[in-house]
Amino acid sequence: MTRRHWLSLLSAMGLASAARAADPAPPPPGTAPALTDVQWKQRLTPEQYRVLRHEGTEPPGSSPLNHEKRRGQFVCAGCELPLFHSDMKFDSGTGWPSFFTTLPGAVVTKTDFKLILPRTEYHCARCGGHQGHVFDDGPKPTGKRYCNNGVALKFVEAA
Ligand SMILES: [Zn+2]
Repeated sequence: MTRRHWLSLLSAMGLASAARAADPAPPPPGTAPALTDVQWKQRLTPEQYRVLRHEGTEPPGSSPLNHEKRRGQFVCAGCELPLFHSDMKFDSGTGWPSFFTTLPGAVVTKTDFKLILPRTEYHCARCGGHQGHVFDDGPKPTGKRYCNNGVALKFVEAA
């Protein structure tokens, strides 16, 4: 390899890592689909993009999924990974679709400090899309309340 090639390779690597650092919500390592921020923007509606990729929060009471009572699964609006079953849903009265547990391995959590008190945020385990926050004031048997943005989910009715 010539010196010139080596230098251009180094600068290409530099550009590649700068592009990665600019992505505001990179999916956790080893997950799919690995889309760029631009690709996500093209794939999602503006509100889905804001919530899933920039950890936004929809206005309470805005999602039709608040009133969804049919039997089926709630899947990630970004990659369609099933996150919740309708049996896990309960009416929390908060204005956001709420669940007392998730399907096994469906989400990963991290702590955010956007409000003064730390909150536990959770993401789709496959695409890294932000779903909502989990609190310790849910019903039995888990005592957990997964407070989910409805726009980050799609409902798939059981056949
Ligand atoms: Zn996903």
